[in-house]
Amino acid sequence: MKKHNYSAGPCILPQEVFQKSAAAILDFNGSGLSILEISHRSKDFIAVMEQARALALDLLGLTGKGYQALFLHGGASLEFLMTPYNLMTKAGKAAYLETGTWAAGAIKEAKAFGETVVVASSKDQNFSYIPKDYTVPTDADYFHCTSNNTIFGTQMKTFPNTGIPMVCDMSSDIFSRQMDFSKFDLIYAGAQKNMGPAGVTLVVVKESILGKTGRQIPNMLNLQQHIEKESMYNTPPVFAVYTSLLTLQWLKNLGGIAAIEQINNAKAELLYNEIDRNPLFKGTAVNEDRSVMNATFVLADESHAPVFDEMWKAAGISGLTGHRSVGGYRASMYNALPLESVQVLVDVMREFEQKVSG
Ligand SMILES: *Cc1c(COP(=O)(O)O)cnc(C)c1O
Repeated sequence: MKKHNYSAGPCILPQEVFQKSAAAILDFNGSGLSILEISHRSKDFIAVMEQARALALDLLGLTGKGYQALFLHGGASLEFLMTPYNLMTKAGKAAYLETGTWAAGAIKEAKAFGETVVVASSKDQNFSYIPKDYTVPTDADYFHCTSNNTIFGTQMKTFPNTGIPMVCDMSSDIFSRQMDFSKFDLIYAGAQKNMGPAGVTLVVVKESILGKTGRQIPNMLNLQQHIEKESMYNTPPVFAVYTSLLTLQWLKNLGGIAAIEQINNAKAELLYNEIDRNPLFKGTAVNEDRSVMNATFVLADESHAPVFDEMWKAAGISGLTGHRSVGGYRASMYNALPLESVQVLVDVMREFEQKVSG
């Protein structure tokens, strides 16, 4: 039986994507060859890369606006380093908003590189909220933020107008909600949260911000180099790129980000309503900053955990355990998670209430 998969990442992908990518492992496009054994320079694979790059920009509404989409190795974690490498000038500085563990990881890499200003942090409350009152220094080379804090279940609903290049780690909510993506100059996202399998990172960059650091950048870390080589500087992670393309096509056919946003909002509303209604549960993120993708919650009485855990596991739910730094539970409701799976969880929460209080 297929599980109701709440894994935070690598995560659920659409079933039809699994079927198509599995078929391509055996026979890609009727070629008699597996996607895993063809040259990345073959006509067929070049078409995959071109389509994936174009469709990513198309879905984000960035076609023809001076942006390039790249599919790179190294995960979002390598982008923590590539960002200062490509954008921080020799005597310059960078500004960061610290909203969680991943943001802190990005800050650590930038600090090793040059002057790094943390404009605000919610570390004082275990990252349960998004700081709102801060000013971004206008003389910084760029401002970096994290749109969705996967571990803590908070999400930025608004973004500041900084007047300087804006960089955003969108690993866990890209393609999940409508935004004016042209507000950002550099967006990156590890594929394994909302786009595809692990092993590839989407980088969307406005070309005009590059080439200003005055430093030598190693080729593999140089975004301009990757643009020139059309995202094939070296052998790309072909299977991860292909599967990401299938997910993007699935999303496009569904009606794009506008359509999935409605479904995602319905899922989040269903679950948060139950968390708020059910006296046995408490949300851990402040209400106004709650994430539509990752809902974090705990039991009002921890001693009930064995009962609840047995119940959700018996209902075919997987991956609900919270991150070790927060504890409790985390329901990751990425694009491919159906509304029915959320209903199953909500039903279990109600039955649990009856069992414990009844
Ligand atoms: C998972 C995650 C990362 C780390 O991604 P990797 O691809 O594993 O390096 C970074 N930022 C956010 C917001 C994440 O959710």
